[in-house]
Amino acid sequence: MINLVLFGPPGAGKGTQSANIIEKYQLVHLSTGDLLRSEIKAGSELGLKARSLMDQGILVPDEVVIGMIENKLKAHTDANGFIFDGFPRTVAQAVALDELLAQYDEKISMMVALQVPDEELLTRLLERGKSSGRADDQNEDLIRRRIEEYNSKTAPVAEFYRKQDKYYGINGVGSIEDIFSAICGILDKEAKTVS
Ligand code: AMP
Repeated sequence: MINLVLFGPPGAGKGTQSANIIEKYQLVHLSTGDLLRSEIKAGSELGLKARSLMDQGILVPDEVVIGMIENKLKAHTDANGFIFDGFPRTVAQAVALDELLAQYDEKISMMVALQVPDEELLTRLLERGKSSGRADDQNEDLIRRRIEEYNSKTAPVAEFYRKQDKYYGINGVGSIEDIFSAICGILDKEAKTVS
């Protein structure tokens, strides 16, 4: 199995690159942001609680997203592997993910981090907000809040995987194709070592 953590701040291109990776490597895409938005759409209790935090650009509690990932892992025991997109976002989530995967004798293969300067993220997210319909992409203060949340709570997760020798940082500014081929270079090297 290839279990990839696709990492980076909001607007780094994780969703775009996930779509390309899934197609080429037949992995299951797990985006906690997408899962939370489905809960909101469905009007579930969980969605209702998450919404007020998401509308403020604040992370939802660890146990909420860990529970969602646990359910998805259970539902896809036959998968070739997973792309974790927007998860783990705290060190506690990263620890929980290692524990969950260990239950299936699995582990994270690597973290690929897309590196993009803050000002570029702001420009990209405001542009995305024109068509995404996401309220959290349409307000500059809210975007800055999300970037701050990332820098304070999420950025330390990179260190967690660096210590496990699984961290690969790549330049997230450039053409979608060039960034995709940089990701493929890392995945292909890993695929050879597992097969
Ligand atoms: P995203 O679509 O990944 O940008 O996530 C949108 C929002 O959902 C974030 O600003 C958070 O409020 C929430 N969220 C998504 N994933 C997580 C996570 N792993 N941990 C905590 N909150 C999350």
